[in-house]
Amino acid sequence: MIVVLTGGTGGAKFVDGLRQVVPQEQLTIVVNTGDDLRWWGLSVSPDIDSILYVLSGLLSKERGWGVQTDTFFCLQAMAQYGEPAWFKIGDRDLATHLLRSQLIADRKNLSEATDEIARRLGIAARIFPMSNDRVETRIRTPLGELGFEEYFVKRRFQDDVLSVRFAGAERAQPAPGVIEAILSADAVILAPSNPVTSIGPILAIPQIRHALRETSAEVIAVSPIIGEAAVSGPAANLMSAMGLPVSIAGVAQAYQDFLAVLVVDTSDFAIAKDLEHSRLRVRCTNIMMRTAQEKLNLAREVLSQVACEVTAHSGTERS
Ligand code: GDP
Repeated sequence: MIVVLTGGTGGAKFVDGLRQVVPQEQLTIVVNTGDDLRWWGLSVSPDIDSILYVLSGLLSKERGWGVQTDTFFCLQAMAQYGEPAWFKIGDRDLATHLLRSQLIADRKNLSEATDEIARRLGIAARIFPMSNDRVETRIRTPLGELGFEEYFVKRRFQDDVLSVRFAGAERAQPAPGVIEAILSADAVILAPSNPVTSIGPILAIPQIRHALRETSAEVIAVSPIIGEAAVSGPAANLMSAMGLPVSIAGVAQAYQDFLAVLVVDTSDFAIAKDLEHSRLRVRCTNIMMRTAQEKLNLAREVLSQVACEVTAHSGTERS
């Protein structure tokens, strides 16, 4: 079993490659819920949705979030009602939030609701929220403290970041199955997700970080940083705010207590050599995922680095 820890867009691109190489039955995805929000009275879990959509082939590859070829009539109507419309929800995407909210109103927890939606989408992989307890990523800026989506989508991550906290993480229990999956995995992969606000909330749950230190599986991470910049989004600013260098050294530092292999871009070859030590191997390859073929190649490369047995697909390219 391959366990992947992930956030949204970068993680979804990586999982898109992985699903071409590993049968879904052998994949367990543990997803950040620190970005979850109430929106128009509904329970929205943006990172879980990205994984649901990528594994069911519904994800919009142009946007990197939401459902492909979706329409936005409800969003327009809500804006006409004077309701907030900065968080973009497509009409088909809305059905997911309605169903999740209905399941939760029927006393299912987030794990059960996610399972049910995954089942109805025909997904064979296991998708676990990191926790069923509320953990909220809060970004402190000169404007005051913002929720993650407020900072990221509404304010377009333009504000200086003073600090980041994960409210509720200390007391949060991992969702059922998460610890068992990590401890019994053949390999644990940290997707090239934002180390602070996508992987950070997962690691902030004490029992999860502990399990990563305890597991006999190798833990391998793909860097979301190339050179001194994030491939996309605010990871660089957020890493600086957390006192991490904005480079692959910062990624290695964020995961230093459990990481066995770090996969970085070929252009980071020089610094990669300096980072290696007795407990950390650093491997260079192309980590940009612009095309289906690049996603597939990266997934294959990552799997080849960890000593684990997966029944690989033939790996024929899908669009
Ligand atoms: P979010 O919740 O949408 O921010 O999702 P993630 O944290 O999963 O994805 C954002 C991260 O993915 C950013 O830090 C990017 O630098 C990284 N990223 C995006 N595209 C790529 C890519 O093609 N290759 C790599 N290595 N990282 C990427």
